[in-house]
Amino acid sequence: MGIINKLEKNARLDFDDGLKLYELDLFTLGHFANLRRVSMWGKKVYFNINRHINPTNICKDICKFCAFSANRKNPNSYKYTKEEVLQIAEDACKRGIKEVHIVSAHNKEHDLYWYIDIFKELKRRFPNLHIKAFTAAEVHFLSTLHNLSYEEVLDKMIEAGVDSMPGGGAEIFDEKIRAYICKGKVDSKNWLKIHELWHKSGRFSNATMLFGHVEERKERIEHMLRLRDVQDRTGGFNAFIPLVYQRDNNYLKVDKFLGSAEILKTIAVSRLILDNIPHIKAYWASATLSLAMVAQEFGADDLDGTIEKEAIQSAGGAKSAGGQALKDFLDIIVTSGFIPVERDSLYNELRVYEETDCGVCQ
Ligand code: SF4
Repeated sequence: MGIINKLEKNARLDFDDGLKLYELDLFTLGHFANLRRVSMWGKKVYFNINRHINPTNICKDICKFCAFSANRKNPNSYKYTKEEVLQIAEDACKRGIKEVHIVSAHNKEHDLYWYIDIFKELKRRFPNLHIKAFTAAEVHFLSTLHNLSYEEVLDKMIEAGVDSMPGGGAEIFDEKIRAYICKGKVDSKNWLKIHELWHKSGRFSNATMLFGHVEERKERIEHMLRLRDVQDRTGGFNAFIPLVYQRDNNYLKVDKFLGSAEILKTIAVSRLILDNIPHIKAYWASATLSLAMVAQEFGADDLDGTIEKEAIQSAGGAKSAGGQALKDFLDIIVTSGFIPVERDSLYNELRVYEETDCGVCQ
């Protein structure tokens, strides 16, 4: 069956189909990805009101693509105290955020029990606050640090009140590329295993893919297919988040950077290959808000959240450090012809905004 035929029949796509999708012209590919997106979510664009907290940038690892960790290109190291993290979360809660997204560098001074104290205290003070915390790379780091199994670390997270896991640390699953760009970090088999264990405990998570560096299309497709396999077994991934590689302040030599067309193609391909992951997130902090909005017509249905303070992508050159004001978020969604939907961290709809709600028609 030809690729167009398969798309028209909504057939499951394999690795070769993935390569063929990339060969389609952008608008044909976008048309099919958008059809899939509209059949699932109509014109809704999902977002949440959240706060990212990155407690330290002092890291034992040296991923070549990373501009966030403190090193000779980024001499500004920092390490929050527990009280500082709690204060940031408390201030954000007063402003109405519903989720804290806590991920960090791998620093043995911030061990598992340091975080557990914070999670417990957050839940004590704000029982309804959703705690999204620890990438699988952090789970691996903490498991090694304390000589605990992955299951033991995950159980302690649940006991302390962590509600869901973010999708970071996946980078690209191809082991050869992984060894080149982030040697020492959790390997791909264990990244997937940690998420599978988390899902088996009844919890949800997301999955990222860092693209636009030294990988090729085939490695992106392989990455998506490995996620699809896990999802067939667990159903625990809420969203796939393709992250555009940021080029500044790091040690990865990349000759050719991706243009917008290839970014949109990758988002569209992911919508079509990942037929079992409900949401595709165009993460505005890495793709820019304008391109993330265009991506909503190429298969994406989510923009992430208002974030408030972004430290990781902005360290690599993204213009995202100050987060996004809710009103600006709503304006751009509505003026692009979509319906803004505030969701919680698990994609339950909290508020569907009418045009007049956000003031663009007033
Ligand atoms: S990507 Fe994460 S693990 Fe790698 S150097 Fe940066 S902070 Fe450390």
